[in-house]
Amino acid sequence: MTVDLVIKNCNIVSPEGVFHGGIAIDGGKIVAMASNSNLPFASRTIDAHDHYAFPGIIDPHTHPGKRDFATDIKNESLAALVGGVTTMGAIIKSSRMGVGWSDAPPTSVSYKQTFPAAESAVTSSAGIDVYFNFGIVNDEQANEIPFYVKEYGVTSFKFYLGYMGGDRASQRAGLGNFSSRLGFPDGFDDGTVYLGFENIAKAGPPCIAHIHAENMEIVRIFFERAATQGNADLAMWNARSPGFCEAHHIRSYAQLAQLTGCPLYVVHLSTTDGLDEVIRARREGVNITAETGPQWLIIDEMDDPPGFWGKVNPPIRDRATHEKLWVGLRDGDISCTGTDHVPNMKEQCHGPELMTEGKASYKGTGGVGMQTMFPALLSEGVRKGRISLARIVETCCQNNAFAAGLFPKKGAITPGADADLVIVDMKLTKKVTPEVIHSPLNAFFEGRELTGWPVMTFLHGELGFEDGEILAKPGAGKYLRRIAGSQCYPM
Ligand SMILES: [Zn+2]
Repeated sequence: MTVDLVIKNCNIVSPEGVFHGGIAIDGGKIVAMASNSNLPFASRTIDAHDHYAFPGIIDPHTHPGKRDFATDIKNESLAALVGGVTTMGAIIKSSRMGVGWSDAPPTSVSYKQTFPAAESAVTSSAGIDVYFNFGIVNDEQANEIPFYVKEYGVTSFKFYLGYMGGDRASQRAGLGNFSSRLGFPDGFDDGTVYLGFENIAKAGPPCIAHIHAENMEIVRIFFERAATQGNADLAMWNARSPGFCEAHHIRSYAQLAQLTGCPLYVVHLSTTDGLDEVIRARREGVNITAETGPQWLIIDEMDDPPGFWGKVNPPIRDRATHEKLWVGLRDGDISCTGTDHVPNMKEQCHGPELMTEGKASYKGTGGVGMQTMFPALLSEGVRKGRISLARIVETCCQNNAFAAGLFPKKGAITPGADADLVIVDMKLTKKVTPEVIHSPLNAFFEGRELTGWPVMTFLHGELGFEDGEILAKPGAGKYLRRIAGSQCYPM
């Protein structure tokens, strides 16, 4: 038997540890892993020079559609290959699928109206594989969940709890008409959330509810207090959203999740209070998964770049919090990592002027992170002894695939899986610059040196990135239709 490709001399990383040998690929799938001498004959052989081989990274948390949707899908997915990301979960609003943020209608519509254009944007332009997490913001959408599962293969649904109060609430929290921009100027209520949870539970695994846990109605009080003190730094941005606001939402909605039998996924966990509630809910029998991300593990509210560019929700926290979140990630209380990747130009961000005339205003300081999540976790996590390579594979690949209903098609180096692979030089140091990350956009780690970078990224057995260059073409990625019926993807 001759296979398409063999990658030899790899240190193959799995949750069980590191194995030296090679990977055989045929027809875009992994067919075998073996010691170098036992690999099959191949049409092409690549020598990995004892670098580390990981399954392609899965980023479960990205926000294309800040500008034109198809452009974001193309640019961001191709740039993602730099960071070893081969699958992205795009969180989208029905109002923004197919159009940009500023063109988005002010109210959300049924996904029946918008999904076809969004799917074709992925099929024609994506550089990596993409699945969708639908934002659910009205009863019509909540009632259509069974349809979305069956017809569109969407099994994860996002509830923007932080902004559910609508524009009146987001204005009072200093965020302007943020709810409008998400498509629900009048907000939505717990009835919609309840209906959504019921329908997700009924649809069965791998269906899951994602929540942004942050009670912005209480944030407004702390925001007003901080604003009157005239503080204008990231520490103020942090202080205005105390940990209990995150914890409060997790506790409340864990109860609804338990009542309805709906699996719960907490995106971008950022506080120790929140972590404590995740642990408590799990002990009480709630099916709960927590995700955190590099900006909440690494960047300090006072000391680090991006400084004022990092005005995100939930806020960037402090070093003591980072260490507790690292322990949570290491010990399994936090299962997943994601980026909250937002393709924002620097001009769109508020920059150093956190406050204007005594008032803070939110101007979307999200940043791009798909290119840097994996290097940042290797650099600050593995190299500094906070987390093992095996645990990185679990939290960036295996668990993300499992939560998305894509395991073991994605997230594992195993026969039958898609041949999405990253080869990493653990000693390679690069400073994060627009050239290195192939993006002029606001980036969380810009200006920082990170050690441990992908040197090759493969998608479906094709080399999509090598030595700093993106080789993949738009259209290389596929839309991933997930399948209800079992937690694992039927292979
Ligand atoms: Zn997000």
